[in-house]
Amino acid sequence: MSDVKTLMVQGRVFVEYELRALTGLRVGGTSAGIAIGGLDNPVIRDPLTNRPYIPGSSLKGKIRSLLEKHYGKEPNWPIARTKIHVCTDGEDYKDCEVCPVFGVPAELNYGNLPTRLLVRDLHLSEESEKAMEGVPLDRPYTEIKTEVSIDRITSQANPRTVERVPAGAVFGPGEFVYTIYKATEANGNPLVDPRQDVERLGVLFEGMGLLEHDYLGGMGSRGYGKVRFEKIRITLRAGPDYFTKPIPIDEAVDASELLATKSEIIAKIQEHLGL
Ligand SMILES: [Zn+2]
Repeated sequence: MSDVKTLMVQGRVFVEYELRALTGLRVGGTSAGIAIGGLDNPVIRDPLTNRPYIPGSSLKGKIRSLLEKHYGKEPNWPIARTKIHVCTDGEDYKDCEVCPVFGVPAELNYGNLPTRLLVRDLHLSEESEKAMEGVPLDRPYTEIKTEVSIDRITSQANPRTVERVPAGAVFGPGEFVYTIYKATEANGNPLVDPRQDVERLGVLFEGMGLLEHDYLGGMGSRGYGKVRFEKIRITLRAGPDYFTKPIPIDEAVDASELLATKSEIIAKIQEHLGL
C-alpha cells in the first residue's frame, strides 16, 4: 500500500445507548488505590465523584476481543498480560473486520488509517445514582461479595472479597462514535471505499450482540457481568448540515433488535451519504 494522499471524513455515526447490568458487574480498579478496608478486588471509580464507571477502553477491548474470536483472528500482538490480533500487513488490514474499526498500534505504519471507532467512558446513569442512594449498600454504589476458591491440592478454602455494582444498575448515556472515511493513494487509486466503511459499522453491532451473550468485567464464569444495551439511538452527521442537524437513522430496544435491522441501517446511511 502506498502513502495516503487525501483523507476526508464523509460522516460520523453516533450510537447512543444505556447499558444495564443484569447481574452484578465488576470492572476492576487497583487495590493500591484503596486506602483502608482491605478490599481485594475493588471496582474502578471516578476520582472526582467516587462513583463506579466503565472506562471506554475496557468496553472497547472486550468487544474487540469477542470479535477477534468470532472471526477466528490469530492473537499475535502482546499487550499487557495477553495477546490481541493486529494486522501487521497492509493488504490484510484492508479486508480485516477488526483492525480498521478498532485500530492498530501507532508504530505500524503501512498506510493504515485512523481508527474508525471511539468508545466514550460510561458513567452510572442519574436515575440509578438516585435509586442507589436510597438503598443500604456495603460501599457507595456497590456491594461486597465474598468469593471462595478452593486450593486443588490442600482443599483449603481461600475466601476473598469482591466489590461489584449491584444487578439492575444502569450506565449511560453511553456513546460510540464511528467515523466514515474516504482516502486516496498518492497515485490516485482509492484506498478506502466509504461504502465499505459504512458496511463495517455492522461489525460494531455484532460486537454489541456478542457482548450481550458474554460478559463485561471480571468473574464472568461466576455469573458476573451480564449486560444489555438499551435505548439505542443512531444518528448521522454529514454534509453541509454537519454541525447543525444530526440525521436520525434508527432506534432499537437492544442489540438483537439492532442486528435484525443492520442492513437497513447501513443502506440508509449509504443513501444519506450519496454512496
Ligand atoms: Zn486485522
